[in-house]
Amino acid sequence: VITEEELEKYVRAGRIAKAALEYGVGIVRSRRRVTLLELAEMIERKIVELGGRPAFPCNIGVNEVAAHYTPLGGEEHYLPEEGLVKIDVGVHVDGYIADTAVTVPLSSEYSEIVEVNREVLEKMIGAVRVGVRVGELGRIAEETAKKHGYLTIANLTGHLVDRYNLHAGKHIPNVWQFLSPRIERFEVYAIEPFLTFGDASGYVKEIRGNVRIYSISRIKREKDRRLEQLRREIMARYNKLPFTPRWLASEYGEDAYRGVEELYRRGALRGYPVLVERNGRPVSQFEHTVVIYGDEVIVTTA
Ligand code: MN
Ligand code: MN
Repeated sequence: VITEEELEKYVRAGRIAKAALEYGVGIVRSRRRVTLLELAEMIERKIVELGGRPAFPCNIGVNEVAAHYTPLGGEEHYLPEEGLVKIDVGVHVDGYIADTAVTVPLSSEYSEIVEVNREVLEKMIGAVRVGVRVGELGRIAEETAKKHGYLTIANLTGHLVDRYNLHAGKHIPNVWQFLSPRIERFEVYAIEPFLTFGDASGYVKEIRGNVRIYSISRIKREKDRRLEQLRREIMARYNKLPFTPRWLASEYGEDAYRGVEELYRRGALRGYPVLVERNGRPVSQFEHTVVIYGDEVIVTTA
């Protein structure tokens, strides 16, 4: 069950995520010359300003980069003048998470895919109710996209959300799925259809070795005293939510990157490699978080 008090925190997180995302979209649309790093940090600062905490590092996916890309310290990639820019924002209030994303088309050739993607998410949300199979939402996504000549990405899904747990087990597929589980009362889901072009593969692949986002994967003491100190610091700051070494660099400098890499190598952290469309085709994404409050469906990020 989700209590009224918990619902209130989900709703607060949703409002903050929506505002921070709109703030980011405004910067992208203004076509100001900013780096991805500046944009991510401005959005993350906005979240804190509004009384939330980032539930994961701000993701900025340009073109074929579908997910898990957050800028690192010292990087100087600028927002592109053309293409698709995805901003994916996570906020938590006391561990209660909102996860939301939009895509900004920076050239007219991409305005249609973005509009269709918006429609796909709307239709999926419109079909959310207690008892519906999640595969039905996938079927709606796939068919709506296909009707306009687009593909949904088959190996990226929405996900169940729980307190301090961004990926809590159940998935919302973006393609039809046989005998899938049903949506139940008092569940929270992030629903996030990704679209790509008809000539794309419709799948993403990992860029091995390009890891920018991590999370605690096991609770076990490290023998190395300093690494153990870093592991505890990560646990205290982020619990099991995803984080980036960029956030630790203000305190630990360059050592933050080395230390996190070492904890990852030792299995204390799991890493999320950058995901790109297999054929290198541009990818669009929209995402909202919905709370199933009894029989009521509340979109916290709308
Ligand atoms: Mn997201
Ligand atoms: Mn998500």
